[in-house]
Amino acid sequence: MTRKTRRVVLGALGSMVSLGTLAEASREPPETLSVRVWLSEQAATYEGVTDRIREYLTAIRSLEHWTVELSFGGTVAVSTEDAARLMTRGEWPTAVVAGGLGRRDLDPVADVNLLVTDGRMEDAPTGYGVAHIASVGGARHIADLEPFDESLVDGTRWIVPNTAPTRTMQVLVHEIGHALGLDHEHGVAIRDGEAVIATPMLSSYAWDPSYQADHDRCGSAIPPAQDGLEKRLSFAFSPCARRELATYDGGLFSEPIRTDRDPIRIG
Ligand SMILES: [Zn+2]
Repeated sequence: MTRKTRRVVLGALGSMVSLGTLAEASREPPETLSVRVWLSEQAATYEGVTDRIREYLTAIRSLEHWTVELSFGGTVAVSTEDAARLMTRGEWPTAVVAGGLGRRDLDPVADVNLLVTDGRMEDAPTGYGVAHIASVGGARHIADLEPFDESLVDGTRWIVPNTAPTRTMQVLVHEIGHALGLDHEHGVAIRDGEAVIATPMLSSYAWDPSYQADHDRCGSAIPPAQDGLEKRLSFAFSPCARRELATYDGGLFSEPIRTDRDPIRIG
């Protein structure tokens, strides 16, 4: 073994020890979920982005049985605002892991590490999420959201019109759902009078004719005959998604990172 090879091997061993420590620390089922949000430098140029995210995610947590510890990690320099590409090319996951190993000035949390960019929300894919790590575009639309108002929430339901700002916030929640282990099949669309309401994990797939709904996990995902009906969005996860969330027990690195998520389409 040459000296150089040995140093590489020792370097890899060092990583494994650190990963083991992280896994050990997060083996207990979490009582609170830690969610940390970073902004790309360009996303940070819009006023109100972190305020709106804090307001909306705080309100969503009051609809769920678990509690969320939300924090902001600051701004991150990125090579592109294309949120999905930052994930699929590995740039954001690499940054999070490097931060977790103390090799980069970035402090990840155990449950959800979300990067918000100024990526376009008109072109799919607009975000991407794997276990514990996700990214979503649309900072300018989040800045355009109405400040949160209690009157938006009707009991445990929280239904809003389908606009670019609300769609973007729903995709943000959708990617957090992926980071916590949810799939698109945990989303449903509900017929409500003359409207069809899509929950976060189904999102705009509800009106995408090419989307192949999985009927196994949550019953019928999409109600039939929705032509001409108003499209509306809900920020509350479906009961089926909540049941799945109740089984979540893993922190960062305590399970294999899955990369089989489909990117969400918006259109
Ligand atoms: Zn998705």
